[in-house]
Parts: sequence; structure tokens; C-alpha cells
Amino acid sequence: MKIGFIGLGQMGAGIAASLIRAGHELTVYNRSRAKIQPLVELGAQAAADVAGACRSEFVFTMLADDEALEAVTSGEGGMLAQMHAGAIHVSSSTISVALSERLTTAHADAGQLFVAAPVFGRPNVAAAGSLFVVAAGESRAMQRVGPLLDAIGQKVFSVSERPRDASLVKLSGNFMIAAVIESLGEALALVEKGGIDRAQYVEILTSTLFGAPIYKTYGALLVGRKFTPAGFAAPLGHKDIRLTLAAAEKLRVPMPLASLLRDRFLRLLAQGGEQLDWSAIGDLAAIDAGTVPAIDSEAV
Ligand code: NAP
Repeated sequence: MKIGFIGLGQMGAGIAASLIRAGHELTVYNRSRAKIQPLVELGAQAAADVAGACRSEFVFTMLADDEALEAVTSGEGGMLAQMHAGAIHVSSSTISVALSERLTTAHADAGQLFVAAPVFGRPNVAAAGSLFVVAAGESRAMQRVGPLLDAIGQKVFSVSERPRDASLVKLSGNFMIAAVIESLGEALALVEKGGIDRAQYVEILTSTLFGAPIYKTYGALLVGRKFTPAGFAAPLGHKDIRLTLAAAEKLRVPMPLASLLRDRFLRLLAQGGEQLDWSAIGDLAAIDAGTVPAIDSEAV
């Protein structure tokens, strides 16, 4: 298949590479042009602008946030104006439920289709083509994009015909991951100050009752205090909790833990954590306990 691909950041680069490996012909675009070359070396064509990546039946986007996706979809040179009638925009970014809804309507008005296909998995998982994909869109669009989503993920979940549902599932999942990071961080601060070895503690927990991948991945990151380079940057984690709370507010769902997590991220960002992995919120408890002096933003 011929596919346009916009957004070659940490996740987009791996997803685009998976599509190329599966035999698809990609035309790729990224705002910072330096990130295009590695994909060209894998066989992709370079597009000079967003419009140049909109000539195919399918256009993937993997961008930071709502603002970035709005920047590439709107305006004369944007996707809505440039994509062909009947073409499908597959959006894998973690975006707000509200933007998913707006893009569903805007693409339909332009005679195009919109599929939200956000993903679970960090950049190494994206590079391996082993993401979990949570997708939603009209069934005629989902049928066409199915083989492409299979190429980027180990499992694809088709949630519903409403793209916004995939965005809500993804946001709620990231809220749960952030809650795990915070609770692990607090427990680790407690045992560390009590004189217990952190690595042994995580080993005990993850080999018994807490064997889920999320505890293993983030347990290892917290034990190693390895927050750079950021696989998932703290500002993006903050964004996801903000968007979770925005969805919760709209649906009138109190989420006190999400409100707490929002403040944890704000604290991390206010104190120099912009470049750190989002798991660094898990070390704030150790800072509060006095076992770690401060956020080490110099480690970047
Ligand atoms: P990233 O490495 O920071 O890449 C962000 C991408 O968005 C880059 O291509 C960047 O272009 C582009 N971008 C940002 N602002 C833009 C703008 N105003 N106009 C045009 N392009 C813009 O982020 P990432 O980690 O790949 O994350 C991408 C998305 O995946 C986010 O929605 C994130 O929440 C989600 N996600 C991330 C992970 C993870 O573990 N990292 C896992 C699952 C989902 P430049 O290169 O020019 O800056």
C-alpha cells in the first residue's frame, strides 16, 4: 500500500519503520527535517511538506499533542484540505477526546475518513512492531486499515465505530500507568528509607503478586533512577493526565487520583523535569522523604 506518514518522533519513527518492513511504500514528513533521513535510508520517500505526504489512500499521524495535530490538519496546506476524497487519516497520537470528535466530523465533511488508533508501548516496542493498538472508526475504514495496524502492533483492539472511544480508552490507560508509577514510587521511598534494598523489593513484588509488565518496566526504571533519555517525556505524561481530566470533567466523573497526578507532574515540570522520562514523578516521593536531594535535571 502507499501510505503518507507525518510525525517521525520517538514513536513515529518506529511505527513508520514497521510499515516499511511490512512492504508498504511510505512518503514521510516531519517538521524537523533531520528525522526524515533515517526513514529514507530504510526506503521511504521524503515529502517536502504536509501536503506532499497526503497523496495516498492512507495518511498516518504520530504527533506530540492536540496542538501539533491541529497544526498539520488545518489550513490550506493541511491534511483536511490536501487529502483525497475517500482517503483515511489514521491518528496514532494520544489526543483529547474532543479533538478526536472534531476530526471525525471535519474529515467526514471533507469526504474523508478518520480512524483513531492510539497505542500502548514505549519507543523500543514501537520499533519492534509490537505495540498494542486501540482503534476505533467506521467499519468501512477499519476494514481497510486493519492490515496496516496489524503491521505495527502485536495486537489490535477494535473498540467501536466512534474514534473518540479509542482516545478515551488510551487516556484512561495512561492514567492507570501514571497511578502505578506514583504508587510504586511511594512504596519504594518507604522501603528505601527503612533500609531495604530497592532492587530486591521490586524483584519480590514483580515475581509474586505484581507480575504485570507495567510493574516490571517501571519498577526497573525507578530502581535504576534512569530518567534520561526520556522514552516518554514528562510534558507528554502531564498532557495525558490533563486530557484525562478534561474528558472526566465533560462526562462529570470525579477522578481525585488523576487530580493528584496532575499536581505531581506539575511539580516535576516546575522543578526542572521537562527533559526527563515521565516515570521521574515516581522519584518525587523519595525527594519528599529526604533520601534523594532533588530532581536531577542535569543528568539530561
Ligand atoms: P516525540 O518524540 O516528542 O515526537 C513528537 C512528534 O510531534 C515529532 O515528530 C515532532 O516534530 C512533532 N511535533 C510536535 N509539535 C509539532 C507541531 N507544532 N507541528 C508539527 N509537528 C509537531 O513524541 P513521541 O514520544 O513520539 O510521542 C508521540 C505521541 O505518541 C504522543 O501523543 C504521545 O503521547 C504518544 N505516545 C508516546 C509513547 C512513548 O512511550 N513515547 C507511547 C505511547 C503513545 P519535531 O521532530 O519537529 O519536534
